[in-house]
Amino acid sequence: MHAMILNRIGSLLEWTSLDDHQPGPGEIRVKVGACGVCRTDLHVVDGDLPSPRLPIIPGHEIVGRIDALGAGVEGLSIGQRVGIPWLGHTCGICPYCLEHRENLCDRPLFTGYTRDGGFATSVIADARYAFPLGDAGSDVELAPLLCAGLIGWRSLAIGGDGKKLGIYGFGAAGHIVAQIAKWQGRSVFAFTRPGDMKTQDFARRLGAVWAGDSDQMPPEVLDVAIIYATAGELVPLALKAVRKGGRVVCAGIHMTDIPAFPYELLWEERQLLSVANLTRQDGLDFLKLVPQMGIVTETTRYPMRQANQALADLRAGGSRVLQFLYPNPKL
Ligand SMILES: [Zn+2]
Ligand SMILES: [Zn+2]
Repeated sequence: MHAMILNRIGSLLEWTSLDDHQPGPGEIRVKVGACGVCRTDLHVVDGDLPSPRLPIIPGHEIVGRIDALGAGVEGLSIGQRVGIPWLGHTCGICPYCLEHRENLCDRPLFTGYTRDGGFATSVIADARYAFPLGDAGSDVELAPLLCAGLIGWRSLAIGGDGKKLGIYGFGAAGHIVAQIAKWQGRSVFAFTRPGDMKTQDFARRLGAVWAGDSDQMPPEVLDVAIIYATAGELVPLALKAVRKGGRVVCAGIHMTDIPAFPYELLWEERQLLSVANLTRQDGLDFLKLVPQMGIVTETTRYPMRQANQALADLRAGGSRVLQFLYPNPKL
């Protein structure tokens, strides 16, 4: 197999040839068809997240087909298409796992962070954390749903069913959530970096009723705001934009410091929440509805060997475009 490997924090990924791994008990080996590139991959590479396993193969929006089954795997078969998400393993016995909150497990493994991920021609996964995907839709279209879509889905659920939804940061998750929210009959208000007309036009094309700069107030007071951008200064702005009793959900894995703000922004039962990871149930609930939602994901394709370029482009602000790696070792 081949992989793009991170050997040291802050270094470039290195194209590496490795021996093929055999799946252990309860594991599957998946031949990667496409793997999305996510902002979290940048956080791993940059060292924003604590204690990554090194060396590590990044990538946690994996779509591929099973090509080997470990002992004891049931309900999956060779050739079946599956998705491998960020949540790669949970302990099953900590208080969070026992309360059906496995997204908060005390001893989890995360794909592309603490276990090897999908910037590779094949990946070994815990079979219990692989989602069967069926055959509708291309690998590339489905890959971003495995993280941006799932986190988007969970953050929408945690935000409640308010009709007027603000989305701060209209990138990978934002553009998928806008489409889910529209399908659910909500009104979407999209906030971008000040002056980013291109992304604001994109948001309107996807059905946002309003799109503007993140430092502007929307034309109507919001029921809920979800922040996908990493800028902590958006938190007070979003609190200011929601109604009494409204919710602000921080959906990123990493955010810069939140500046001090007057208590009146939180007063009147506004709620400030964060969303972490996903549960397998989130995945099952979301992926079951995907064929009805008609989600269109905007993608840019890169050969796997150009993973460093894909990460650089994402860093440079390709915020509305999702990037993909193809595991073609010749490229
Ligand atoms: Zn646990
Ligand atoms: Zn991700």
